[in-house]
Amino acid sequence: MELYKENQLKIYNSLSKSKEIFKTVTEGRVGMYVCGPTVYSNVHLGNLRTFMSFDMVFRYLLHLGYKVRYVRNITDAGHLESDADEGEDKIAKKARLEEIEPMEVVQRYTVNFHEVTAKYNFLPPSIEPTATGHIVEQIEMIKEIMDKGLAYEVNGSVYFDVIKYNSDGNNYGILSGRNVEDAIHNTRALDGQSEKRNPQDFALWKKADERHIMKWPSPWSDGFPGWHLECSVMSSKYLGDQIDIHGGGMDLKFPHHECEIAQSHACSGVQPVNYWMHANMLLLNGQKMAKSTGNNILPEEILTGSNKEILSKAFGVGVVRFFIMQAHYRSILDFSNEALLASEKGFNKLMEAVGILKELKVTEKSTFNVSEWKQKCYDAMSDDFNTPILIANLFEAVKFINQLKDDKATITAEDLEVLKTTLDVFVFDVLGLVNDGKEQSSDKLEGAVELLIKLRKEARENKDWALSDQIRDELLEIGIQLKDGREGTSFSVN
Ligand code: AMP
Ligand code: ZN
Repeated sequence: MELYKENQLKIYNSLSKSKEIFKTVTEGRVGMYVCGPTVYSNVHLGNLRTFMSFDMVFRYLLHLGYKVRYVRNITDAGHLESDADEGEDKIAKKARLEEIEPMEVVQRYTVNFHEVTAKYNFLPPSIEPTATGHIVEQIEMIKEIMDKGLAYEVNGSVYFDVIKYNSDGNNYGILSGRNVEDAIHNTRALDGQSEKRNPQDFALWKKADERHIMKWPSPWSDGFPGWHLECSVMSSKYLGDQIDIHGGGMDLKFPHHECEIAQSHACSGVQPVNYWMHANMLLLNGQKMAKSTGNNILPEEILTGSNKEILSKAFGVGVVRFFIMQAHYRSILDFSNEALLASEKGFNKLMEAVGILKELKVTEKSTFNVSEWKQKCYDAMSDDFNTPILIANLFEAVKFINQLKDDKATITAEDLEVLKTTLDVFVFDVLGLVNDGKEQSSDKLEGAVELLIKLRKEARENKDWALSDQIRDELLEIGIQLKDGREGTSFSVN
């Protein structure tokens, strides 16, 4: 029997604001769509957290035995600087500033995204479609919405008519809880510059002005699609009119996902998504990590330790994944060097226990209920992917393994097998942790350099300046810099 039948999954649905039993449209299959990156700059760790949350969801669904089609798009056109359909296209702006082609921007940051996700041990999605690869389908969808009388053209641009949609008995606001009527009364009147009939209307197609380089022909003008349209088009094209799961960061709920629902529903007449999942934000210095404010850290900087302002050293992929997974995906998470150091301790303990497992002796009796523990791991994950509870359970096993090592507990051969496979499943397959050994080797490096610092101190006390300088200079040559201060000597690795 498939594992998903024994371990009934519950998912918190942002649409109903409650945990619901997960029922798929088609038995045994899951269609999942996640809004991908806008490729105009490097992904920062905040973006990565959201994608990692869905990587974990993908991994657990696969483990449960579902056949999953996971679609995560690349936004390579149409995302303007302001969510209110104003400003320059983010990619075109970057191209203008760097004096390169927009498609060079797209290529550079798509490659970066793939490199980072591969380094961080992500499973690749099943399909990774691009907005520019689906212009024809987007034009077709606009025509369909216009045919239903739910969009209007002004000067070569097309807007979705939110008031008309709602007066037909629909609910623009169903996901975000925003009340359109209130919003209309509270919003400043349009400044006369806008072509929209109503401030809540949003662009399906925008006519390109003469400066705009990323444009395509359409029945209305040479222009480009609105940002929200690509996701409606690509999710229905690859997953059908009703998909099981749609994910993204919390900040995409409004307007992006609200608009997606309206567009898709306008065409198909059904609710396009059964379970809306939203991942919470990663903070740095108490503020949302963001590209626009510069308040961010790059995933690569953590692996090299190159961001000295924030980090005291480099950390491995396993530690960063552990750090992200020890918070629930719907909770806010604060990034800091201290938090990574604490995660490193926990991660190392876990890896040590996994290592010890190989050397354990078995006896006639177990002093730990392994099958009950295994079920608790499944229960945690099946309760809206509760990774912090799962990790707490994993540490119960760590405690037991250490007792076994010290001959303070016993285990049968059968239980040992279950313990090993269950740890393997949850630590490596589901959480996607990797034991890259860096942590242990960085601890060893630290120990070795501390020893050299001690020897240099002794040399100086003996006035052996030649030896003291030799230690300092030769360490510097291999990229280890000693710094003498009032508190003693510290070091940094470049
Ligand atoms: P973007 O490339 O700006 O379209 O964003 C890609 C994804 O990252 C979206 O799902 C955002 O919601 C998400 N995101 C942006 N900032 C953060 C953050 N600080 N923490 C977590 N997710 C974020
Ligand atoms: Zn999207």
